[in-house]
Amino acid sequence: MNNTELKENNPFYNPEIESRMENIKNIFLIFSGKGGVGKSTIAAKLASHLVLEGKQVGLLDVDIHGPSIPTLFGIADKKLETKKNNLEPIRVGENLKVISIGFLLQSENDAVIWRGPLKTQMIISFLRDVEWGNLDYLIIDLPPGTGDESLSICQFLNGRAEAVIITTPQDLSVKDVQKAITFCGQLHIPIAGIIENMSGFICPHCGENVDIFKTGGGEKLAAKSGVNFLGRIPIFPIIVEESDSGKIMESKTGEDEMAKIFKRLTTYEKGEGRNEK
Ligand code: ADP
Repeated sequence: MNNTELKENNPFYNPEIESRMENIKNIFLIFSGKGGVGKSTIAAKLASHLVLEGKQVGLLDVDIHGPSIPTLFGIADKKLETKKNNLEPIRVGENLKVISIGFLLQSENDAVIWRGPLKTQMIISFLRDVEWGNLDYLIIDLPPGTGDESLSICQFLNGRAEAVIITTPQDLSVKDVQKAITFCGQLHIPIAGIIENMSGFICPHCGENVDIFKTGGGEKLAAKSGVNFLGRIPIFPIIVEESDSGKIMESKTGEDEMAKIFKRLTTYEKGEGRNEK
C-alpha cells in the first residue's frame, strides 16, 4: 500500500497528528518482544549518537509502566510544562528534546495505574501536543511486546514510522521478536532492521569471548524473515553503571560497535529499500 492508500484505509488517521509530524523527517519505533533486552538503552544511545552527528533529535518514551529514559539522562526530577496548550519537551543540551510519562509522575516510585482509554488519550496527547519544532529524527521507545500502547502508536503513525527491533540472542527473546515482525507486517510498518543486544561478553581478565545469552539468534531470525540485520552489541557491564548514574549521553561505551549499527540504520533509512517491505 502506498501512503495515500494507508491513510484512506486507516480509521485512526488523525490530521492533527499528521500536521504535528510534518516537521519531523524520520521516525523510528524501538520495539522489543520482551522487557530487559536493552530497548531503552539502545533508544538512548541512538539519540545520543545522532545528536553527536549534529542532528536535531526528539526522544519520546511511551514505556508507560517502566519509563527509564529520564533516569538514563539524569533528568528524572524534571516536570513537563505547557505553553499555549502545547507540551514543552525537556531539553538535554542544544539538540535533544525528551518527553516521558516519567515527567508527569509525582515521584519516581509512583506506578501508572490506568486503563486502556486513558493510556490511549495520553499517547494521542504526546503525538499531537508536543512542541518538537523541526526534528531530523524522532525516536520512540515503546513498551515491550505488542500490546495496546504499541498498537495505538503504530496506528496513529501509519505511513510515517519505521520499526527497529531489539532482541537478545537467546531463543526466548527471539521467539517474541517473531511476533513483533508479524505485528509490523499486519500494520504495514516497515522494519528498518533488527539489533542483537547482549551478544557475547569479552572477559576483562582473559580477553576471551563468552556467549552468555548465546549468539546469532537475531541474525538467523532476520535472515529467515527477510529483515535487515543491523548488527550485534556485546555486554558491557559499565553501561549499567552509566545508566544508573544518568550518564548515557556522555558514555563512550560500545561506541565502535554502535556507530556502525546506527550508520547502517540511518543509511538504510535513506536507501532504496525504504517503503518496499
Ligand atoms: P528494556 O528497555 O528492554 O527493558 P533496558 O534498556 O532497561 O531494557 O536494559 C535492561 C538492563 O540491561 C539495564 O540495566 C541496562 O543498563 C542493561 N543493558 C542494556 N544493554 C546492555 C549491554 N549491551 N551491556 C550491558 N548491560 C546492558
